[in-house]
Amino acid sequence: MSVADTAEKPQSKTSQAVEHFDVLIVGAGISGIGAAYHLQQQCPGKSFVILDALDSFGGTWHTHRYPGIRSDSDLYTFGYRFKPWVGAPIATADEILSYMGEVIEENDIGPHIRYRHKIVSASWSSDDGLWTVEAQRTDTGETLHFTTNFMWMCQGYYRHEKGYTPDWEGMEDFKGEIVHPQTWPEDLDYKGKRVIVIGSGATAATVVPAMAEDCAHITVLQRSPTYFIPARNENVLADQLRKLEIDEQWIHEIARRQILMDQAEFTRRSFEEPEKVRNELLGAVKMFLGEDYDIDKHFTPKYRPWRQRVAFIPDGDLFQGIASGKASVVTDEIERFTEKGILTKSGEELEADIIITATGFDLCVLGDIDFTVDEKKVNFADTVTYRGMMFTGVPNMAWVFGYFRASWTLRVDLMGDFISRLLKHMDEKGFKKVTVALRPEDKDMPLSSWIDPENFNPGYLMRSMHLMPQRGDKPEWQHTQDYWAEKDDLPNIDLEGAEFVYE
Ligand SMILES: Cc1cc2nc3c(=O)[nH]c(=O)nc-3n(C[C@H](O)[C@H](O)[C@H](O)COP(=O)(O)OP(=O)(O)OC[C@H]3O[C@@H](n4cnc5c(N)ncnc54)[C@H](O)[C@@H]3O)c2cc1C
Repeated sequence: MSVADTAEKPQSKTSQAVEHFDVLIVGAGISGIGAAYHLQQQCPGKSFVILDALDSFGGTWHTHRYPGIRSDSDLYTFGYRFKPWVGAPIATADEILSYMGEVIEENDIGPHIRYRHKIVSASWSSDDGLWTVEAQRTDTGETLHFTTNFMWMCQGYYRHEKGYTPDWEGMEDFKGEIVHPQTWPEDLDYKGKRVIVIGSGATAATVVPAMAEDCAHITVLQRSPTYFIPARNENVLADQLRKLEIDEQWIHEIARRQILMDQAEFTRRSFEEPEKVRNELLGAVKMFLGEDYDIDKHFTPKYRPWRQRVAFIPDGDLFQGIASGKASVVTDEIERFTEKGILTKSGEELEADIIITATGFDLCVLGDIDFTVDEKKVNFADTVTYRGMMFTGVPNMAWVFGYFRASWTLRVDLMGDFISRLLKHMDEKGFKKVTVALRPEDKDMPLSSWIDPENFNPGYLMRSMHLMPQRGDKPEWQHTQDYWAEKDDLPNIDLEGAEFVYE
């Protein structure tokens, strides 16, 4: 079954039995599988289930099937801390899926996962001290009910069914095919075809070198440029340690520390000396494209480095495609689609047989699940986040939201420790309910959007920020996106602090 099949309209049938689990994990992506591992290890007595709308595990890496699909950060840190990564740092979706498959197999997580279960609602009852979760089977149409004490939300941050495509004038006039990378047709034949890729992010940078050899020509049409880091897809230190036959667990830990230290330095420098960092990044691109190429126009972003994710380009393959003439870049805006392709604002008509809209995600808050607390609908935009993990007024629930500037999975592990510690604390004290609440000293705290656009501003967040929970001006009340502070802060959170209200 394809991902798109999950959106099929199910017939309505209700199954009577209600199953109970101590913990219900939503999503079998890298966050959900990590959550299950930590729960099993740290709270071995707890019963749990993982529900996922798709027909297999992997989340992002299952959904995205476009040519060349790969990580844009290294797998030493995108991998879990507990399972060594033994390959090249940048990995394909298939390599990530087989790594996750091994984690599931080695820890017997498989029997806990129920696929094709799309959760539609979750209602908390304070009288019962339980969530009641309604899920719809995407294959049989059955409606199923579960109860749980704690919801461990690992549903990611975007809608899997469909990507984001702007509504351009004249799209219906185009005689060729329009494809979004998130819903890639398995049988798309692009051999010998003229292709335009709209977008400048990591997806465009991946798909272009992967297709360039087979297409007649591939053109990247971008409104504005992005920063990239072209470098060899290798970790010299890890490879050297491997030659010395050092244990893989050690290599994993050492490589992680080295990469995290380098990233901390890069982040610091991009704030403190953005011009120098900018010149270094552009210098690397120049090495591939040469002095005559118009780097200013096509590869010099207007923002300072790190305000959007900087994608790693293994072996500079994107730039090799451009240098060879198989791929080219047009930096311009779209006036409208035409029968033959795209007319740009500067009046050029780009002709194509296939147009790929690498225009990003459609952000969704908490899996589009209809949440109610004691029969009152929860509007997450009215809540304040506790460290980007929990939300005021929403009991017994946490959302694993990773990092933008460091690998997402680093936070999966940190939050695995935090939630397990919280659950154990509640058991020890006999508490059934935990809610986060502003303390008296937080009452007049100014509130603002989930993330500061000055700090980080990718399009999918900017479009939907008004739907996200709010942040305060203290680290406790925001997702700081700062792994280096959180690795020390999260393990030391005082669970008896006034921000935790237990019953
Ligand atoms: C192409 C691509 C490349 C990326 N590369 C990197 C990278 O290199 N490094 C990095 O740090 N980040 C990267 N990211 C970001 C990436 O999405 C996250 O790092 C990570 O994979 C998110 O994992 P997750 O498990 O939290 O969510 P997801 O991977 O989105 O998985 C969520 C799962 O929850 C399920 N789900 C959602 N709602 C419901 C519901 N209502 N009911 C039942 N199930 C539900 C979905 O079906 C899905 O399987 C990339 C993203 C993309 C799209």
